[in-house]
Amino acid sequence: MPRKRAKQRRTNPIKQLAHSSAGFPQSYPQEPWTNRKAFSNHGLSGFPSSSPGASDRKYGVDALSAAIRVRVVVDAPQYSGLIGPLDYSSERPLAPGTLVRVPLGRREVVGLVWTEAAAMASAPHEGELRAITEVLDALPPLGPSWLALTEFTAAYYQRGVGETALSVLPPELRKLGNADVAKRLGRLEKKRAQAGEQTNQPTGPAAALTPEQQAALDALAAAQAGGEPPPVLLYGVTGSGKTEVYLQAAERALAAGRQVLVLVPEINLTPQLQARFADRFGAHRLVALHSGLTPAQRLGNWLKAHLGHADLVLGTRLAVFTSLPRLGLIVVDEEHDPSYKQQEGARYSARDLSVYRGRLERVPVLLGSATPSLESWHRADEGRYLRLPMRERIGGGVLPQVRLFDMNQLPRQHGGSALSPPLLQALQQRIAAGEQSLLLLNRRGYAPVLHCPCGWKSGCPHCSAWRVFHKGDRSLRCHHCGFSERVPRACPDCGNLDIQPIGRGTERLEEQLIEALPGARVARIDADSTKHKGALEAQLNAVHAGEVDVLVGTQMIAKGHDFRRITLVAAINPDGALFSSDFRAPERLFSLLMQAAGRAGRDATQAGRSEMWVQTWNPQHALYTALRKHDFEAFAASQLAERRSAGLPPYASLALLRAEARSADDATAFLQAASDLARELAGIDAVMLYPPVPPTIARIANVERMQMLVESDSRIGLQRLLAAWLPQLHVLRSQHRGVLRWAVDVDPLAI
Ligand SMILES: [Zn+2]
Ligand SMILES: [Zn+2]
Repeated sequence: MPRKRAKQRRTNPIKQLAHSSAGFPQSYPQEPWTNRKAFSNHGLSGFPSSSPGASDRKYGVDALSAAIRVRVVVDAPQYSGLIGPLDYSSERPLAPGTLVRVPLGRREVVGLVWTEAAAMASAPHEGELRAITEVLDALPPLGPSWLALTEFTAAYYQRGVGETALSVLPPELRKLGNADVAKRLGRLEKKRAQAGEQTNQPTGPAAALTPEQQAALDALAAAQAGGEPPPVLLYGVTGSGKTEVYLQAAERALAAGRQVLVLVPEINLTPQLQARFADRFGAHRLVALHSGLTPAQRLGNWLKAHLGHADLVLGTRLAVFTSLPRLGLIVVDEEHDPSYKQQEGARYSARDLSVYRGRLERVPVLLGSATPSLESWHRADEGRYLRLPMRERIGGGVLPQVRLFDMNQLPRQHGGSALSPPLLQALQQRIAAGEQSLLLLNRRGYAPVLHCPCGWKSGCPHCSAWRVFHKGDRSLRCHHCGFSERVPRACPDCGNLDIQPIGRGTERLEEQLIEALPGARVARIDADSTKHKGALEAQLNAVHAGEVDVLVGTQMIAKGHDFRRITLVAAINPDGALFSSDFRAPERLFSLLMQAAGRAGRDATQAGRSEMWVQTWNPQHALYTALRKHDFEAFAASQLAERRSAGLPPYASLALLRAEARSADDATAFLQAASDLARELAGIDAVMLYPPVPPTIARIANVERMQMLVESDSRIGLQRLLAAWLPQLHVLRSQHRGVLRWAVDVDPLAI
């Protein structure tokens, strides 16, 4: 085997990638994408479910007498061609997953020992193989399932394996020498010993369960008893107590001596959930992993997980790659959330990888949502996921009554106003009763564009987009490239002093509210109002403390927050998404509105009179009809029927090839040439190639963007084609000098 693998070096990198995974499951398929059975049972797949066993590996080498060939992956970008492992010589056998430093060209880089050491017939000739510079063996090697997860990620999302593996490790780790690592581990051990007496703290009391929560936990336990638990879709309306199910499922895993990984969609939501887990299990057992940590914190927390000191890891999408030697449960909260999809590098979906990881390590995966992604919903329909519904709110609370407010019915003079007279009246009633209201407007800034009667508009000189007027600092700011200028006093084209805002954002809505509701305490939460550290917490605290009557905000306020005094939620003008060219826009809108509705009536005593208003020009739209009944199931069924007839996910698999260039022609030419190459490939019959088109915003920061959709009924067919096609594109790019960047996005979220 080792000799055979050595021969395959530098042939077809993708093929090599597939084969270089030796040492993982013995039954690793020759072509990873032909394992149909694995695919059919699973969202993402390609590996058999048998757990890899590094421990049975035999080095088969007399370590002391011969130099050893070691295969190492390094962080080489995809286009460099160094996509698979490289050979180095080592004086001793090194376990896969060991961090090393190796020479690469004239540099020295961090690498990861990838496959088992292979005996060399004789010592390598001088100059034949370069030697490993340093072995970072103070750190226990990354486990075989971790290696399998990153290898799968690289193959599935079409990136280099070394690039992928090293990019998901804490950046600080790459800077340290072996002595530094040893020192850090020593400090961690010491701290742990000092905190030893704490670790016997009793855990906080579990809450009494509702029958639905109990049923969900029982079903989870039963599924787990089978040894190969299917992913569980915990479909629970907002306020049904999903978190308590997570907590008790975690408690069971911890009691069995296992570690628990909890993923949340946004950093903003981690403190809340972190507090609940810390209350229950003790803060010392818990670490957080997200991009808001300092590099040192991130490394420290990662090490605690890797060494098994931390029992619970709570984090955003990057945490899916945490090394957890005793993993026993994965929870993905708000599994439908788009932020689980990475938007650069390996464009992975942390939700899908969680499911894959669960299968690889035979641990249960709990996907929770009130509005599951249609992909997950469909898998549950097919019986591949176990669906556990929780339809009741805790304490018998009811969901707010949804009222569709038909803007066509308003007298003309009010037709364009965000604040219709009935809405103002409803807000006044809430204020008089000492209750809070929430206004959702998913557009920040004061107005999306300024204009002059002469025809001038506040376009961005660098993008095909308008610059948004921010009244607070009197700036015109591009939300795509960041280009910002002070608002001109007069029209730059004709000198007219009367330039006017068109449309409205949260800033303007806030201003209109203050004007229309004298004396009311109005607050605004969006990306602008929460720029400074601690601002969001302070604002949320003010809402919780009852210091705010009307809260205005973007989707930031719709997600997760447990507001207790809100009895009215109003969506100001959500219609835009109904007519978007992105087929996922209705799904996202429905989910956002359901989540926003869930902010109202969380206190059971107020639930009965809480309401959600939707101001719409299209009250007959099926999406709103389903929303009015809180009927996600009907909405999902109608969307899935549309997707099926249109041949869209989850009934088809997509990849998006993107190109960026100084001119749209250059980007198009590259994609066209790529398309021509694909048509020569054997697997082309399985896929459909669409012509290159510009995305919604074609030009950003003076870079023209084009994209080309690749579609297939078969995930395997698509993967086969991509694996054969992408290596050619690295070559092709060198013939298209005008192309600045290109990338492939597998299972893209935004089209
Ligand atoms: Zn711009
Ligand atoms: Zn003008």
